[in-house]
Amino acid sequence: MNSPRVEVDLSKLRHNIRTIVGRLNARGISVTGVTKAICGHPIIARAMLDGGVAGLAEARLHNVQRLRKAGVICPITLIRTPMLSQADDVVQVCEASYNTETSVIVALAAAAIRQNRVHGIILMVEMGDQREGIVPQDLGDIALQVVDMPGVALKGIGANFACLSGVAPNAANMETLSALANNVERQCGPVLQTVSGGNSANLPWALAGHATGRINDLRIGEAILLGSDPISGDQIGGMFRDAFTLVAEIIETDVKSVRPSLSFADATLAKLCLVPNPGETTRLILAIGHQDTDILGLSMPDGNVLIGATSDHLVIGTQHAALRVGSEMRFQMNYSALMRAMAAPDVGLKLLRHDITPHRSGTPDTDKHLALV
Ligand SMILES: *Cc1c(COP(=O)(O)O)cnc(C)c1O
Repeated sequence: MNSPRVEVDLSKLRHNIRTIVGRLNARGISVTGVTKAICGHPIIARAMLDGGVAGLAEARLHNVQRLRKAGVICPITLIRTPMLSQADDVVQVCEASYNTETSVIVALAAAAIRQNRVHGIILMVEMGDQREGIVPQDLGDIALQVVDMPGVALKGIGANFACLSGVAPNAANMETLSALANNVERQCGPVLQTVSGGNSANLPWALAGHATGRINDLRIGEAILLGSDPISGDQIGGMFRDAFTLVAEIIETDVKSVRPSLSFADATLAKLCLVPNPGETTRLILAIGHQDTDILGLSMPDGNVLIGATSDHLVIGTQHAALRVGSEMRFQMNYSALMRAMAAPDVGLKLLRHDITPHRSGTPDTDKHLALV
């Protein structure tokens, strides 16, 4: 068996997707499945489509091209503002894209005319995350320009939260987004098919029971892949957290009884030394490192602690003396660890599709965030 590898349980993944799609559809919100963390892997993307997502969204053109080459024909939206230099390719493989720059929209329109197509434009509005977006005061004018531009069609507006800054989606900023949608339509007519409220961080708002207003779409990656709420890190009730597992192999075991004299040049490395008394711990060395994943995003299995990692080695202190060279260890990943493992050339992928019924919920504590609706 190739290791390190990511194991994907497609049955658990489909369950997660159906669960989120069912809960959001009941609130009048469709789910756009975000494939960037899985690098546009076509089989995993198909599991998203089987689970009922309305379409797919990607941040990187290369991943979209991968999906298209594999024969995925559903609507795909580019959620990162297209590079000016990629306008032709974007129009060729994506039905629509999120946009914040008129110069890019002009280039997309020209490319669409050359290709005899109409490219959909969703305008991304800046609502506090301070990453991409048009400031609300400029939205109406830019929307009018897009409506008047041949080659492109204004399809929607959207916002993004809790990515760069900590601004979380809430009833107030979702009402503001709905009001912006109404303002745009007062100026441009009833053109907005999509009002996309945000990402997985929007789920607590979307499922809390208050009015969803004009919001009719969310772009969801983390919640369906990892079953967790990105803001709290808590399990979402009724979802699997272990659809993805990272497996790595032990290449050395030893008892290093002497505490090494620590003189780290790099303060971040010093922080990794988390074992209270390494002198008494059996150490395991695994063949995986920073080049393969975000080591700090791995959950250590019970009875194990992270001692540290380098580019190619992971050192763990364990109470399980039975672990031997050649044994494999399994880790749950957070979003950052998953994304990097999926993109790492030396990490393999194994797809599994066992049929397993899920635990109905997480702990009572986590259930309060996202109740079944
Ligand atoms: C990554 C991303 C998403 C998906 O975020 P998750 O937290 O994985 O649900 C949605 N929208 C945009 C613009 C993104 O960049």
